[in-house]
Amino acid sequence: MENQWIVHKFGGSSVGTPDGFRRIETLLSDYKDQRFAVVVSALGGITDQLYGLMEAAVAQHDVTSGIDAVRERHQAHAAALGLQPPEFLDSDLEDIKDLLRAVQLTRHADQALSDVIAGYGERWSARMMRDYLNDNGFGSHCLEADRFIVAEDTGLGPEVDFASSRTLLDNAMPENCQQLVVTGFIARRPDGRPRTLGRNGSDYSASIMARLLRAREIHIWTDVPGVLSADPRIVAATRPVQTLTYDEAAELAYFGAKVLHPKTMVPAIAKSIPIHIGSTHDPHAPGTWIGPESQSTFAIKGITSINNVALINLEGAGLIGVPGTARRVFSRLELAQISVVAISQASSEHSICIAIDASRVEDGERVLRDEFAREIANGQVKGVRCETDVALVAVVGAAMAGQPGIAARFFDALTRCAINIKAIAQGSSEKNISAVVEKKDADRAVRAAHSAFCLSRQKVSVAVLGTGNVGAELIDQLKKQSGILAERMGIDLQIAAIANTRKAWVGPDKTSAYPQDGADGVDLHAIFANLNNGESPHRAIVDCSASEQLASQHAQWLASGFHVVTANKKAKAGPMEWYRAIASACQKAQTDYGFEATVGAGLPIIGTLRDLIDTGDEILEIEGMLSGTLAYLFNRYDGESSFAKLVAGALDEGYTEPDPREDLSGMDVARKLVILARELGETLEVDDIGVENLVHESLREIDLADYMKKMATQDDEFARRHSQAAADGKVLRYVARLIPGESAQCSLAALDRTHPFALASPTDNVVKFRTRRYDANPLIVQGPGAGREVTAAGVFGDLLRVVGALREVDRGSASQ
Ligand code: ADP
Ligand code: ASP
Ligand code: MG
Repeated sequence: MENQWIVHKFGGSSVGTPDGFRRIETLLSDYKDQRFAVVVSALGGITDQLYGLMEAAVAQHDVTSGIDAVRERHQAHAAALGLQPPEFLDSDLEDIKDLLRAVQLTRHADQALSDVIAGYGERWSARMMRDYLNDNGFGSHCLEADRFIVAEDTGLGPEVDFASSRTLLDNAMPENCQQLVVTGFIARRPDGRPRTLGRNGSDYSASIMARLLRAREIHIWTDVPGVLSADPRIVAATRPVQTLTYDEAAELAYFGAKVLHPKTMVPAIAKSIPIHIGSTHDPHAPGTWIGPESQSTFAIKGITSINNVALINLEGAGLIGVPGTARRVFSRLELAQISVVAISQASSEHSICIAIDASRVEDGERVLRDEFAREIANGQVKGVRCETDVALVAVVGAAMAGQPGIAARFFDALTRCAINIKAIAQGSSEKNISAVVEKKDADRAVRAAHSAFCLSRQKVSVAVLGTGNVGAELIDQLKKQSGILAERMGIDLQIAAIANTRKAWVGPDKTSAYPQDGADGVDLHAIFANLNNGESPHRAIVDCSASEQLASQHAQWLASGFHVVTANKKAKAGPMEWYRAIASACQKAQTDYGFEATVGAGLPIIGTLRDLIDTGDEILEIEGMLSGTLAYLFNRYDGESSFAKLVAGALDEGYTEPDPREDLSGMDVARKLVILARELGETLEVDDIGVENLVHESLREIDLADYMKKMATQDDEFARRHSQAAADGKVLRYVARLIPGESAQCSLAALDRTHPFALASPTDNVVKFRTRRYDANPLIVQGPGAGREVTAAGVFGDLLRVVGALREVDRGSASQ
């Protein structure tokens, strides 16, 4: 038999059910030939129930049924395992009843009394565990830790006196004992009174035990397969971290990873005892190993959050550069036994910002007001301001010290989700960087950071508005490509909602209607609220409609933290104030606006123009054939057959808008020209453009059917223009032309047969950029500029660009 002890700890999640006990027995049978100590928590939920009974007693409520429930739970648990109820259960419950009676009478549960009551759960589970193991061939002894773990209070929680504890343990240890079952959570004060080690304290008990027994390993068995890269209740795609240093584990625990009590590492460090975290459900999986060194090259080990913090801001010009301010803050808070979670001076030069436990915020405010009373009175300090609805999100990893990109990446990931950062702090150890955010944003912030550091796929929730040609095709393309995107690019695009003017659906398949659907239209707020609540930190709205009403909301969506991708021209070509609002919303909320598909569908027209401008070229003229429909019509028109018939045929084929006048009016082309002009900094409105409307004035307001009948009245006019052009050796094309600072027009023009617009194939869009660099030989972008597939592909491309921009923060990741 191996002589050195191993300590195994089973938490409430592992001992909570009879099956849990069975799993533990099977797991321990691998260790039967070794010396081991099993540290157990109370059955899951029992400690909460005991605290609940005390609260009920303080509130003078009857506690009988609560006590009965505790008794029945233990009786049933024991019976299911073929055991007698835990030894002393009834007499213990009688004692608890008496103590609660005292609480009811005094309306108060003091610390000593509360410690006694809270600790019973561990006593019962330890006795049952001893009995169950021994029924199965083990020879274990039960020890109650308040006999020997001596812990005194310090401002920073319980501190163990190992020398006294070892002497007491030596005395308590049964002779020739090889297998121990020990209560977690409970201990004794130096004067012998019982106490607890704080919530979740059984992890700490296990490592105290390991140090006392000079154990060679500590195994903390729980319900997750190790320390995960984030809280699995917040992030779905977590993964176990293979190795952690003691410091990293302590940092993760301190900043909210519930899987370990933050003090667990302290006794283990002293003797370099390795700690293993594994799952009772899969004991042979690798789990997480915690030791003096980490084998992993990952710079970031995990993302954590703490919700119950408060911020105290000390503000005032009198604080700038005054030495000793931070020291005064710290020492006053320490005196009041308020521990500081984070301190930062970064959000504003004039303030010091301290994050503390929310339950102490009033005390914190009071002592700081007192400390700085003189400065407040003479105006050097403006005041002490508290914020309670905040949370702290931390990125933890020892290897990030000295890697400058990490903080930027973290904050970028948050700002890209439109999360407002209230304060930032880098721990002095450089093992963590934390951000204080509004509580409502905390979970999204954890998710965003988790994917920004490649700890999980980049998740983007998408709402598609408009289910016409383009929207329907886009949905198909998104679904077809989703597997490839996930695999190759690590991007998880999820269609969270689809809507048209009449109806909305949840998810990608149009099978389940939106609960809030009403007869009188679709409630977009409900859709966006759902995008907000989803698992993805990033949210994009794709507008595939032609709705002016939706276009008018783009800026607002962007400002609320949604990325927007649009094939709808009416926003960027709408009133100049909409255009400006979009730009400023993007800047303020750090959101992206993708509108490449508004000009030339999938062709890279806006991207090319941007590149030219960004690289310092000067645009002299933009000339374009920007309507696929008009290009088609004039390509096909031979001057002899009826132009009206040609339009009717094109309508049948789906080459025109449902009302062909939308194309023939030139308005669609004018909008595109406005979009391009505005990229050049021009402040044009659509009305400022000279547009040749190919629909005769008398036909513009009549209904569609009437128009289709009367359209032929224009045939002669088109024939005349065609033959005139032909006589000069030219062809007709509808052309948009912009000379920056001078003119902007759209009209039917007669062009040489060798002109690039004349040579293009029937439905092509062509844009000719004449620039200082491309003067004699202009830069031409040409290709299919209309049609459901290419337009949807254009929108898709834009969406990927937006997502790609999100991923840019992932690139350059140091040693991932
Ligand atoms: P036990 O009862 O075994 O002590 P706890 O409930 O105290 O278990 O801790 C395990 C739980 O901690 C997990 O079920 C998980 O929900 C939560 N948790 C929070 N953050 C993390 C993390 N980073 N890694 C693993 N688990 C975490
Ligand atoms: N039973 C105690 C608690 O619930 C200790 C523990 O489970 O670690 O906090
Ligand atoms: Mg626990």
